[in-house]
Amino acid sequence: MHDRDLPEELALPLATGEPWWYWSGGRPAVDFVNTHRERWRRGVETLVTPEDLATWLVRAGVMEASAPVTQKVLAQAIDLREAIDALLVGAIEGGAAAPTEAITLIDDWLVFAGVRPQLVADPGGVPLLTERAASDSPRRALGTIALDAATMLGTDQRSRIRICASETCSGRFFDRSPAGRRRWCSMRTCGNEAKARRHRQRQRQSV
Ligand SMILES: [Zn+2]
Repeated sequence: MHDRDLPEELALPLATGEPWWYWSGGRPAVDFVNTHRERWRRGVETLVTPEDLATWLVRAGVMEASAPVTQKVLAQAIDLREAIDALLVGAIEGGAAAPTEAITLIDDWLVFAGVRPQLVADPGGVPLLTERAASDSPRRALGTIALDAATMLGTDQRSRIRICASETCSGRFFDRSPAGRRRWCSMRTCGNEAKARRHRQRQRQSV
């Protein structure tokens, strides 16, 4: 049995996705895409509830503290995720023009990204440049993800986007290896599995 697979007997759809998140993407935008698991087979949604999304954004380090997420924001987050994946797959396949709707959708989120400066008076009345509190932190966190995606997809970094070479894994990752020849989402799981399979084949051939 393959490590990266979800258990065969999993009751779908999931009630909550948290036990099935994984973090081998190498950056928030790719980890986000990987919340849609087993794209190669069953397509398992692990951002099931608004609470799932709130917890995920905190665990991903793009939101400081858990904040309420509405069902609407969850639906918009999933649209954002699939737009990122469309461009990600396009970058790997090369050639064909990227879907314009996906570009526009990611761009729409960029207005929520980044620091919003604020000038206030400190207790002594001296002007102080500070950062405006996020009035809607889940949207802002998704803006951060959109910016990470745009940085990866809209620059030469796109040449480092990969899909795991395992036939039973659809994990996406960002290849940060110096030579840029990484093939597996994780050496510990898919990489090891491939090594073991080659070993078994060699043994069979030698008998
Ligand atoms: Zn993999």
